Amino acid sequence: MSTIKTPKRYTITAALPYTNGPIHIGHLAGVYVPADIYVRYLRLTGKDVVFVCGSDEHGVAISMKAKKEGISPKDVIDKYHGIIKQSFSDFGIAFDNYSRTSAQIHHDTASAFFKKLYEQGDFIEETTAQLYDEEAKQFLADRFVVGTCPKCGNEEAYGDQCENCGSSLNATDLINPKSTITGTVPTTKETTHWFLPLNRYEDFLREWILKGHKDDWKPNVYGQCKSWIDGGLEPRAVTRDLDWGIPVPVKGGEGKVLYVWFDAPIGYISSTKEWAEQNNKDWEPYWKDKETKLVHFIGKDNIVFHCIIFPSILKAHGNYILPDNVPANEFLNLEGNKLSTSKNWAVWLHEYLVDFPDMQDVLRYTLTANAPETKDNDFTWKDFQARNNNELVAIFGNFINRVVVLTNKYYDGSVPAANTFSDVDRETLEELTKFPEIISSSLERYRFREAGQELMNLARLGNKYLADEEPWKVIKQDEERVKTIMYVALQIATGLAILSEPFLPFTSKKLKNILAISDQDLTWDSVSNEGPLLPADHKINKAELLFRKIEDSEIQAQLDKLEATKKVNEQENKVVTPQKDTITFDDFSKLDMRVGTIVEAEKMAKAKKLLVLKVDTGLDTRTIVSGIAESFKPEEIVGKKVTVLVNLAPRALRGVESEGMILMTENPEGKLVFVNPDEDGVNNGSTIS
Ligand SMILES: [Zn+2]
Repeated sequence: MSTIKTPKRYTITAALPYTNGPIHIGHLAGVYVPADIYVRYLRLTGKDVVFVCGSDEHGVAISMKAKKEGISPKDVIDKYHGIIKQSFSDFGIAFDNYSRTSAQIHHDTASAFFKKLYEQGDFIEETTAQLYDEEAKQFLADRFVVGTCPKCGNEEAYGDQCENCGSSLNATDLINPKSTITGTVPTTKETTHWFLPLNRYEDFLREWILKGHKDDWKPNVYGQCKSWIDGGLEPRAVTRDLDWGIPVPVKGGEGKVLYVWFDAPIGYISSTKEWAEQNNKDWEPYWKDKETKLVHFIGKDNIVFHCIIFPSILKAHGNYILPDNVPANEFLNLEGNKLSTSKNWAVWLHEYLVDFPDMQDVLRYTLTANAPETKDNDFTWKDFQARNNNELVAIFGNFINRVVVLTNKYYDGSVPAANTFSDVDRETLEELTKFPEIISSSLERYRFREAGQELMNLARLGNKYLADEEPWKVIKQDEERVKTIMYVALQIATGLAILSEPFLPFTSKKLKNILAISDQDLTWDSVSNEGPLLPADHKINKAELLFRKIEDSEIQAQLDKLEATKKVNEQENKVVTPQKDTITFDDFSKLDMRVGTIVEAEKMAKAKKLLVLKVDTGLDTRTIVSGIAESFKPEEIVGKKVTVLVNLAPRALRGVESEGMILMTENPEGKLVFVNPDEDGVNNGSTIS
C-alpha cells in the first residue's frame, strides 16, 4: 500500500487546473473527487495532512486564447481562476490552500529551483534552429504550430504532441508546419535553450519506479512509466521563447520563460508555502521529511510529468521527498463521446448547479460509482438518475427517513434504551463495527469506486434491518421490542453520518444536524468501537429530506441540451468544398439553363436512387432521369418549379434516355434541395444568365 509504514504526515496534491476554461465532470471524476475523499478520510482518522492545489496560469494556450480574444493573458487567467475556484468550493473540494502560479511566491520558488539546478550544472545549454514566424516575430513551439505527424500522418498534430497517436513531438519534427498565429509557413532561426537531460536519471527512475513501485502503483501508471523509460529518455527543453510566464533567471535568458511543465508542479510546493505562511506553520517537513507521504492525484495525460520529469527535478535539487504514489485515473466520457472543451461536449459544474441546485453529493456519488479508475468510463444521464433514485433515494434516504420519523413519532425524538438484543441485532451491530476497516482498506489502495459501494452497503444493511424487523407493525403488539429495534437502527444511522463524510460531505453534515451530533464527538474509529454511537436519551431533531427523486423530464432536458450541442458541432464541421478553377465568360455562356416544371414523376424499376421525370422546359416536354429518389417521393414533386440544364448531351440511364439535368443542392443533414426561382410568375423556358 505504502512504502512508508506509518507516515507522520501527508502532503496531498491535486493536478493544477489549466486556466483557459471552466472545469467539467471529467476533471471532478478523474482528480478532484477522489483526492477530496482521500483527504477527508485522512482528516477523519486524525492524520496531519495538507491538501494543496492552484491554478496553472502559464503556457502557450493562455497566450493564444488572449491573442485570439484581443485581451491580455492576465484577463484570461483572472476570469477562469475565479470560475474554477468557485466550482471547487461549490462541490466541497476541501483544499487547505488553492493558489495560482502567477502569484509572486510561486515565481520566486520556481525561479530559485531553476537557479539551483542551473548552478549545480544539471541543465545542458543548446543552440538549435527553431521554427520562427516572421510575421508575428515569434518563435513557434507547442500549440503555436501545427503540421503533419511524422509517426502517423495526422495533418493536425501540434508542436508538442500528436493527439491522434499520442506521440510526444518537437515542433521541428512536424512535416509541412504552419503557424497557428498567422497561418504562414515558418522559417527557422537559431535560439538557445536549457534542457533537462532526462537520460541522466534513467538508472534512478528504473530503481525507484520499476523496482520500487512495481506492486503498489496502479498498472496503468506503472505501464506508462515503463514504456517511457524503456523507450529511451531524452533531454527535454525547460525554457521557451515566449513573453508569458516566469522569466528565465540566468544570463542569456532574456526574452525567455520557464516551460510551463517545469514551473507548474513546483506550484504544489509554492501553494504549501503560502498555506504555511497564512497558518503559521513550517512548510518544509511536508516536502522534505522522509516520513511524509506525498501523493499526487492526476489524470492519465499527466503521468509522464508527475512520474518522470518532476521527480527528476526533485531528485536533481536534492532535498526533496518523492511521491509515494501517483494514482492517476483514465478518462471519463460523456454519453459515449470524449469530453471536449472546444466542442462544448461536457457537463460544466457551474451549469449543473443551476439545473440541480444543492445536489452536489448526487454528482459526487455518481462520479465515484463510475470513476474511470482502471479504464475509460462513461457518464450517462440515465445512470445518474438511476444511481440517485435507486440508491441514494431508495436505500440511503429511505432508511434515514424511517429511522428519524419513527424515533420522533414513538419517543418524541429521544433515543430509546435497548432491551435484550436478539441474534439479528447483535450480528447487525457487529457488522456495523467492521465498516470503517472495510472502507479504509479500499481507500488506502485508492479504490474509490469500491469504497463508495461499501458505504452504500452500510445503508443497505440498515434498510434491510428495518424492512425485516418492521417496527411499524411490531409496535402494535410489543412496544419493548420496538425500542431495541430503533436503538439498533439509530446506531447504523449514526455510523452512516460519520462514514459518509468523505463521499457525501453535504449530506453527512445535514444528517449530523438531524442526529444532533458533532464532528468532535465522533470520529472514523468511533464506529469500530463496542460502545454505543448514540446513547439512550440522546435527543435528535426532526426529519429533513436528504435526497429527492429525479424525474424523467429532468433527464430528458439534459439529453436535449447535448443533442443541440451535437447539431451545432455538425453544422460547424460541415466542410465547404473549395472553389474550382476559374472559367471564362464564354465557358459559362455555353451552359443553357432554363426554368421548368416537373409534370410527371415515377420511380424507375429496380433503381433505388432514380426517378424518371417529365419536365416542361418551355421548349418541349422531355424526359429527365434524376438521382433524387432517396430524398423525394414522386407525388411530392409534381408541379415543382425547377432549374434545368437543357443542353447537356443526352445519355441513357438503365435504358431510358435522359435529356438534361435538374440542378440540386444539399442541406446540412444531407437532404437534397431543388434550386428554383423564388419569384412566382416566371414562365417555363426563361433562361438563366
Ligand atoms: Zn501522430
